[in-house]
Amino acid sequence: MPQSHTSLIGMDLSELGEAAVAAGGKPFQGKQLAQWLYAKRELNLDAMTNLSKELRAKLAERPMLTSRVIASEESGEGTTKLGIRLHDGLVIEAVLMREDDRITACISTQAGCAMGCRFCASGQLGLKRNLTAGEILEEFFHLNELMKPDWLTNVVVMGMGEPLHNYDNLLKALTILNADWAFNFGARRVTVSTVGLPKRIRELAEQGFQFNLAISLHGVDDASRSALIPTNAGLQNILDAAKYYFQQTRREVTFEYTLVGGKNDDPATAEKLAELVKDFPKANVNLIPMNPVDGSGLETPSTEAVSLFTELLQNAGVNVHVRRRRGRRVQAACGQLRLKLEEAAAG
Ligand code: SAH
Repeated sequence: MPQSHTSLIGMDLSELGEAAVAAGGKPFQGKQLAQWLYAKRELNLDAMTNLSKELRAKLAERPMLTSRVIASEESGEGTTKLGIRLHDGLVIEAVLMREDDRITACISTQAGCAMGCRFCASGQLGLKRNLTAGEILEEFFHLNELMKPDWLTNVVVMGMGEPLHNYDNLLKALTILNADWAFNFGARRVTVSTVGLPKRIRELAEQGFQFNLAISLHGVDDASRSALIPTNAGLQNILDAAKYYFQQTRREVTFEYTLVGGKNDDPATAEKLAELVKDFPKANVNLIPMNPVDGSGLETPSTEAVSLFTELLQNAGVNVHVRRRRGRRVQAACGQLRLKLEEAAAG
């Protein structure tokens, strides 16, 4: 990677040690850097008073952040969405949501997405590229400007991209987020949302972390699921992997279900869904009425369909929540802000 794009952000402890040495310092100073950068979220080298002036001057030759905020939209309901331009001009999004005493970050892991979900704006442009671990973590620093001195209580990996399709960089970023030498952010407060890549779900289950897993279901059989998710890896494979995740981590699995008008929002489907999730004793189902996406040819469900669907699940004993269309006015639905920005840039 060219030097000009290599920030300290995204480096693990040994890499920070190497960077310190390369700048004329000592290996143990990697730990000091981790403390400043990650634990204190201090990006100003001048504030790092336990590092020598010479070391700081040398380290200053690297950019601290490789991305920058180019747009910020507020919903007035405690939600702010940032458009973030990466060093190569691609635009991603990160969202901050405040509700009562919760502060949640929704972060992206890829520019674009390869999964092609029909109702998702991120899918419309295809995958541009994976974010590096550093670029994923940079999102937290941009969001930090909106909340400091407060800090996050929760993180959801539900922005642009399929996190498990960028597995290595995701894991590196989340490891740094969780590590006690770095952000020290509790794994149980982090939720990774996936379209359902069974092999990766199993791999994540074996890492020894306590991250929450959310599976985007959106269909109750492979025919209906594949109609909305062309890259569907097979419902049974996904459910088996989810079960394995639960067995290994003892973390509850959440199922996300985007309700699309006339496609997967009928009463018979609700009953089938209740049947499917019965094997997951404490599972939550999050219903997300589809946010309209231009050009998708799909429609948002009627209020009546959403109510009936919810009621049927509840009657079947399922723990169900309807996700409020928070920040709809700022186009908080997945990927929509970026689409707008890219269109503006192209036009
Ligand atoms: N790739 C991950 C994260 C995607 S965004 C995944 O598939 O889980 C988080 C959730 O929002 C997913 O369940 C996704 O399917 C859903 N989603 C995307 N676009 C949407 C839209 N326009 N309306 C409602 N839900 C949407």
